[in-house]
Amino acid sequence: MEPLVDSYGRRHNNLRISVTDRCNIRCFYCMPEDAKNFQPKPEILTFEEVERFVRVAVSLGVNKLRITGGEPLLRKDLPVLIEKLARIPGVEDLAMTTNGVLLSQHARALYDAGLRRLNVHLDTLDRERFRQITRRDDFERVLEGIELARSLGFGPIKINAVAVKNLVEADIVPLARYGRERGIEIRYIEFMPLDSQGLWDRSKVLLMDDMLDMLRREIGPLDAVPDQDPRAPATAFRFSDGIGGVGFIASVSKPFCLNCNRIRLTADGHLRYCLFAIEEKNVKALMRGGAGDEDIAALIRVSVGEKWLGHEINSQKFVPPPRPMYAIGG
Ligand code: SF4
Repeated sequence: MEPLVDSYGRRHNNLRISVTDRCNIRCFYCMPEDAKNFQPKPEILTFEEVERFVRVAVSLGVNKLRITGGEPLLRKDLPVLIEKLARIPGVEDLAMTTNGVLLSQHARALYDAGLRRLNVHLDTLDRERFRQITRRDDFERVLEGIELARSLGFGPIKINAVAVKNLVEADIVPLARYGRERGIEIRYIEFMPLDSQGLWDRSKVLLMDDMLDMLRREIGPLDAVPDQDPRAPATAFRFSDGIGGVGFIASVSKPFCLNCNRIRLTADGHLRYCLFAIEEKNVKALMRGGAGDEDIAALIRVSVGEKWLGHEINSQKFVPPPRPMYAIGG
């Protein structure tokens, strides 16, 4: 079967699957406090539909899967889906991104279902700032969830920290220390224009280079990891003292679209060739309309074939995607 290669020669093997647009926290840079208009249940893909789509995608060369949301742990019986996906021949990597609030309750079942890789979204180690950012008081629960996941043997565990300028500067070094003490890689994510309220502007982006300077000044020398997979969204660094490392997803200051290998399936069954895509393909209508697997495969190929070179955050032409982050998934 021909691999999924776009018109720029990029081979796509990484599928992000959003299983819900709902969330149990309200990060101000993602979701309004009074968010509503979530997709009604019948509009959300069933586990069987997700599994079917993944089997078709795997037949086209996809071998890396990431479960996202909203908050995926709000999806009832998620371990059932994890088990289905982990059993598909050809799936080499299965990971999940969660805000960690419900991790303590579900970690054991997720582990037993075959999940091993976790990214936990945590921007701060300060309870008050956690509350300020998320508008919820679940800080302790997130830390408990991380500790339980470590004790169960999940690994690697990474922490995704969205770096909003003039808000989290005081967290950059403590997070790195937290990670060094626990063998957890901290991934600092440059704030991207994906919020539903149009809050983003460049002055709110804490840049990778500024964070690197802080870490080098406060902790010590950092070296870029050699021979990194250019398709990986994060640029990884290791502390020269050999204790841990950090990564940067620098979509604004150092876009990595030229090596992008990712496509996304939304919870309501739309295929997106890019996080910032304006158009998308309705997979759900196709599947519920009685289409065959070859039709779904053809739709995936068309979508990848239409993929643009990359986001245009740094150009005047930039148009925010019609969907907010919580309805796309990380
Ligand atoms: S912005 Fe779009 S094209 Fe660029 S790396 Fe992300 S998903 Fe890929």
